[in-house]
Amino acid sequence: MQLMKPATSSSGLLSYDQAAALVADYAARRAEDPPVQDEIRLEQALGRVLARPIVADSDQPAFARSTRDGFACRAAEAATHARLAIGGATHAGLAPGGPLPPGTAWEIMTGAPVPAGADAVVMLEHVEATATHVRLLPPRGVEAGENIVAQGAQARAGDALLAAGTVLHAAQIALAAACGYERVSVFARPRVAILCTGDELVAVHAAPAPGQIRNSNGPMLAALVAEHGGDPWLLPAAPDRAEALDAALAEAATADLLLVTGGVSAGKFDLVEPALARAGARFHFTGVRMQPGKPVVFGDVPRGPGSHAAALPFLGLPGNPVSSAVTFLLFGATILAALAGRGERGPRFALARMAPIVDRRGKAGLTRFLPAYCSFRGPEGALPEAAFVPWQGSGDLAAMARANCFLVIPEDQRSLEAGATVRILLP
Ligand code: AMP
Ligand code: MG
Repeated sequence: MQLMKPATSSSGLLSYDQAAALVADYAARRAEDPPVQDEIRLEQALGRVLARPIVADSDQPAFARSTRDGFACRAAEAATHARLAIGGATHAGLAPGGPLPPGTAWEIMTGAPVPAGADAVVMLEHVEATATHVRLLPPRGVEAGENIVAQGAQARAGDALLAAGTVLHAAQIALAAACGYERVSVFARPRVAILCTGDELVAVHAAPAPGQIRNSNGPMLAALVAEHGGDPWLLPAAPDRAEALDAALAEAATADLLLVTGGVSAGKFDLVEPALARAGARFHFTGVRMQPGKPVVFGDVPRGPGSHAAALPFLGLPGNPVSSAVTFLLFGATILAALAGRGERGPRFALARMAPIVDRRGKAGLTRFLPAYCSFRGPEGALPEAAFVPWQGSGDLAAMARANCFLVIPEDQRSLEAGATVRILLP
């Protein structure tokens, strides 16, 4: 799968939009090879991706269903406000009563089947009833169809209600349950190798010596991968040494997707790109006009002469935590979604209104994605309001942990105006 390298700008780097288009194109091609299928129990299915459609095993509802407690009737009769004799009663769980003789009504509860002959349900609150008779109180009227969901109005037996590629959240799991699926066919989760690199990294349990830091990208990316439908495979962190990187890349070769963090900038100890090149990588881009994340690298490694398997896609993410998170959300999640068989692929953007506070001026020429907090509980009819979270740059993990989105500053703008409609990147 060879991709054309699009024309680059004068600075030699792709714009964010060009890089995103290239990744989307790659993802679309990879989405053509369907992943392996798995059969799992419905209780295990949260977050999984349907491999086969969910089909209605009967009409929904399977019988004309009352949506209210009240009296089933013929609308034309009840609308005259005549006294109607109560012919019987049906509550939820009982078989349909009736048929309804002319001039009568039938007591009915929410969820119960409407007796044959009735074409409306009048609400209990709108009638005057004795033990034997009921009358619709004026000035209330009633029309045929009121408070009844007709058999099959929601779905017909045999209808495909959820397509392959749908992610199973609570509503989809409820629908599968309603259709009788104790087990569902889902796609196997792609195995995502996560390789953090850097001489400064120590494990979470270790006390960092002066100059060392704990490896926070490993657990962060494992969480992001899991949230976006992958099976994270956290490799031991590798030092900034060619042989160590070669060995780690060889180990990761069986993954479906490889995420490497650190070592992709232009420094003396940024050895990841050469290591990927030694492993036979084809680079689709090396650097994007964005901030944070400018050094991000994307490519794939062919599996070797004997193999029919598709090449191993990789992303080299800059080591700063905010850079790693943003580049994963913008590029990694899209590729992962394709490999996972998801019908919808990100990144997810939304509109918000810029809060009337502190400006974040920067240079134009880079698309910027800055940690922000968006309040989704604003006044009705208003866009949610987003504000920058104060930060010390892309190493500021504490700031990112206080954020719930990233504000997008377009390449041709230095800042965002208070009150302007702006874009946010959702996690
Ligand atoms: P690099 O991309 O290797 O130039 O690293 C950029 C910055 O990110 C440096 O300050 C690194 O110490 C930091 N960094 C690199 N890897 C990690 C990691 N796994 N966890 C937390 N910070 C990291
Ligand atoms: Mg480094």
